[in-house]
Amino acid sequence: MNRLLRRLLLWCARNDWMREHLPNLPFMKRAVHRFMPGDTIDDALGAAVTLQVLDIATIYTKLGEALTELPQAQEVADHYLELLSRIKSSEIDGEISVKPTQLGLDLDEDACFAHLRTLAAAAEAQGSYLWIDMEDSAYVDRTLDLFQRLRATHPRTGVCLQAYLRRTAKDVERLLPINPAIRLVKGAYDEPKAIAFQDRGEVDANYLGIAVTLLRESRTRPLRIGLGTHDVELVQQIATHAGAAGIPKEAFEVQMLYGIRAKEQRALVRAGFRVQVLIAYGPAWYRWYMRRLAERPANVLFALRQLLP
Ligand SMILES: Cc1cc2nc3c(=O)[nH]c(=O)nc-3n(C[C@H](O)[C@H](O)[C@H](O)COP(=O)(O)OP(=O)(O)OC[C@H]3O[C@@H](n4cnc5c(N)ncnc54)[C@H](O)[C@@H]3O)c2cc1C
Repeated sequence: MNRLLRRLLLWCARNDWMREHLPNLPFMKRAVHRFMPGDTIDDALGAAVTLQVLDIATIYTKLGEALTELPQAQEVADHYLELLSRIKSSEIDGEISVKPTQLGLDLDEDACFAHLRTLAAAAEAQGSYLWIDMEDSAYVDRTLDLFQRLRATHPRTGVCLQAYLRRTAKDVERLLPINPAIRLVKGAYDEPKAIAFQDRGEVDANYLGIAVTLLRESRTRPLRIGLGTHDVELVQQIATHAGAAGIPKEAFEVQMLYGIRAKEQRALVRAGFRVQVLIAYGPAWYRWYMRRLAERPANVLFALRQLLP
């Protein structure tokens, strides 16, 4: 049942008619605020203040993907440049995370790369960091190529890999020689059986295996490892493996989304883990929000409750 609902919600995420109409419904607007502090840079940075006091660093992403015209990519890049300078002037321990299609990957790959280079250079100059999100499977090869090219000149850059994809262990092997920064997530899109594990247990096992490989490798090479998951039990299992191999908790970060498992985020900090929270913001939240609903269909009930006065 959950799997069916997940597929239905991911179908809704891709549906253009719904994307145009559903975000205008007041109950949807109320519901999404559980996962994002608002539409503007001020809203996003405002949310960091409470987190920073708790020793939780932040990552920012402006929502929006799959642009239709190249000048929109320039606007997105300019927005992130402003964001980076606001992070610096607000003395926030913050990084940024971008989607290649938001920077024009579908329209002009060279232009997309140029934007990534500009953002990586600005992030570096301001002591920040640039993460590249991973979108659906049609983009994996191009995203990894962009990352490898970028990383050759800009070391303060990282990429997201998805444990539900059967190929990911091989992608890790391919990336290891460049000592990458990797954010490992389970994966948020609707992918076919031929290329992606469908069973939750298989995804978790693959996640654990890849995370342990990365940690083992981190003993001999300078890797940055982000565990992008709210699965605290899985994080504990990984930490136990690491501990048994003499690898400290400082060897990785736990990265979670704003508004999800906030109590656990704090408990992890108290237990000595390094925690980062990704804050998404902006008016183009529809697709992203539908993916959050798909991850936990119980969230649909929360959204529907916003219909009540
Ligand atoms: C920092 C970060 C960056 C990400 N970047 C990408 C990316 O670039 N590409 C990509 O494909 N995916 C990305 N994701 C999403 C990821 O792929 C998963 O879809 C998402 O994290 C849910 O899986 P989980 O690992 O939390 O584990 P799950 O097994 O799904 O969840 C574990 C527990 O966490 C809680 N939980 C999980 N999701 C939710 C939710 N939406 N609402 C409420 N509770 C929830 C529940 O208690 C659940 O039992 C990112 C996730 C994070 C945290």
